[in-house]
Amino acid sequence: MNLDDEEEKLLRAVALRNADSIFLARQRAEQERDRARAEADAAHRAAREANEAKGRFVNMVSHELRTPLGAIGGYAALLEEEIHGPLSDEQRKFLARIRHNQQHLLRLVDDLLDLAKIESGQFQLKITSVRVQDVMENVCKMIEPQISESDLRFDVAPSEDALCCVADRERVEQIVLNLVANAVKFTPTGGTIAVSATGTAKEVSLHVRDTGLGIPPGRLEEVFQPFVQVESRPNATSRGTGLGLAISRELARAMGGDLSAKSEAGRGSTFTLCLPRVQ
Ligand code: ADP
Repeated sequence: MNLDDEEEKLLRAVALRNADSIFLARQRAEQERDRARAEADAAHRAAREANEAKGRFVNMVSHELRTPLGAIGGYAALLEEEIHGPLSDEQRKFLARIRHNQQHLLRLVDDLLDLAKIESGQFQLKITSVRVQDVMENVCKMIEPQISESDLRFDVAPSEDALCCVADRERVEQIVLNLVANAVKFTPTGGTIAVSATGTAKEVSLHVRDTGLGIPPGRLEEVFQPFVQVESRPNATSRGTGLGLAISRELARAMGGDLSAKSEAGRGSTFTLCLPRVQ
């Protein structure tokens, strides 16, 4: 065997060893990837099961709470009608408080149920083509009594006639109504609330702007978490549940859109609901 043969044999042996170690490294990487994928799948399954269990629990508790809450409301209403004798002013005041708290708890139970259903995917969306102008008109009608009771300016910019989004109409109205109701709650007397819509080739955006209290920058994302409330409400006639924005964002995302906010403490906020545009 000459020197060249010897060298070639050596090179081949080295190449074989390299190929072996590349093969082993690749095998290890694949095993690692499979293990990571299996762990991620298991975590995903566990999270889904936990969400479903939470959904079932909230569902059961909500139904258990609704019956006695309905009874409390019913008996308070009977007493208010003075069927069992006349009421003093003080008794009327206390009964009004009972009703107020009963209604707050009912709202809380409904919101909790809604959120649990959305989070566990146990709810149905009726996706159609929704005309944005119709949504704005319907929300205006629904919010009218609250607006006329307040001393706020309400500007609604008519939207482009053909502006339509792909969404569940009732759910879009629920989100926009929640945003406008919040704007009313958190804007002091003399302020302005403006509702408008814009569109790009792929997206429709509905904006609800107010000149109210605003939200401190550090808490802007927090308000989309369940039960987070940033205090002080100038026009609060009823206590909120702190679930409205969490539900609204989940709904927006379930419809392929999103809900975001910009705000400056003391100067106001703008909430923007984005949804896919009808092509
Ligand atoms: P709720 O209104 O029932 O408290 P939401 O989830 O709708 O619950 O809102 C959460 C919190 O976000 C509110 O308690 C309030 O602190 C803040 N927030 C929402 N909208 C506004 C707004 N337009 N201006 C100022 N703060 C707001």
